[in-house]
Amino acid sequence: MPIDYNLLRVTIDLDAIRHNHRFLRSRGTALIPVIKSDAYGHGLIPVARALAECGADFFAVGTVDEAVRLRPKVEGTVFALLGPQSPEEAREAVERGIVPIAARHDQLIRLQEAADRAKHRPVVALKFDTGMARLGFGAEDAGRVLETLSRCPLLQPQWLFSHLATADAPDQADFVREQAARFQRIRDHFDAAWPDLRCSLVNSAGLLAFPDLAWDRQRPGIALYGANPFHGTELAHLGRDLRPAMRVQAPVLAVHPLAMGASISYGRTYVADRDKTVAIVGAGYADAYSRGLSNTGWMLLHGQRAKILGRVCMQMTAVDVTDIPGVAPGDPAVLLGSDGQASITPEDLSSWWGTIPYEIFCLLGMNPREYVASSETGEGVAKPENRVMPDR
Ligand SMILES: *Cc1c(COP(=O)(O)O)cnc(C)c1O
Repeated sequence: MPIDYNLLRVTIDLDAIRHNHRFLRSRGTALIPVIKSDAYGHGLIPVARALAECGADFFAVGTVDEAVRLRPKVEGTVFALLGPQSPEEAREAVERGIVPIAARHDQLIRLQEAADRAKHRPVVALKFDTGMARLGFGAEDAGRVLETLSRCPLLQPQWLFSHLATADAPDQADFVREQAARFQRIRDHFDAAWPDLRCSLVNSAGLLAFPDLAWDRQRPGIALYGANPFHGTELAHLGRDLRPAMRVQAPVLAVHPLAMGASISYGRTYVADRDKTVAIVGAGYADAYSRGLSNTGWMLLHGQRAKILGRVCMQMTAVDVTDIPGVAPGDPAVLLGSDGQASITPEDLSSWWGTIPYEIFCLLGMNPREYVASSETGEGVAKPENRVMPDR
């Protein structure tokens, strides 16, 4: 359900996503774009279609439900990363030709039962835990998995997955190597029984920093949406060519003076240290614009940065426009993205917010979205007048 009671608007530049896909494919070998959680807030179906247009033939979503929604919209293989969570989901996955990722023995049994009922021989993927300690068969459990599979003759294991915990931390490369070594041992274990098993280990950061761990397919998520997983590290250059796809704006609702000594917003947490002009922008925490940005974050107005003054409210936020003349009600304030020469990157906003780009994308993406295609030769800025399609 989108947030439907607000003024905040999200614009997704599908050309930026296509550009990032091409860039990542040039760095990797073959991709499984990760479009779980509504494509990190960018919109499951529009993003999948844009990726399919530039050649994507594999997709990874989160839940079986999401996979069911995507399945009729694209050609190729659809993985459900979270695997079937009930016998019904196992049946759904098998009947609709979704590739479930099994991480527990009982999931294999349920899939075998569903295959038996549907008279199918479904392809399945196996997920092993090599160090994330989240989902997956244990690294020492390969023997038992083979045993379970021998009792599931209809299942065709075609994929082996694992997930890295520290690929985006250059000082923790050793742990990536440990996980990769465990992954290799698991692969070796399956070699006799399933010699054609294909492997996928790396996420965005792993794809960019560990080309020797590419295996058969790489699974980039965040980099597709233009955030640099190495921002602020010595490896930042690896993600330099990525282009953010999400732009967020909201209108100015009022502009007024705030005299020296006067306070603004709840709790009077900001008091003007000189005569100021403030703009009240129609965005707040009800739009998933965090209250944690109070007195810390910035927006763009007329191509200049304007600091947030006082607390972020439910549907409104005040910014300082003292040095930005001519701001008027109706003007767009940019919360994320660029405006002229100025920009607020996903890394800027998430650092003020005290989180990572992944979270701001997922949260802000719950607002009403529209889609544009900024031409590759253009300035790379999504403009609402180039709107190509409505979202939902
Ligand atoms: C989310 C996810 C990815 C993508 O990770 P990014 O850091 O966004 O590139 C890859 N694999 C799995 C299993 C995931 O859950």
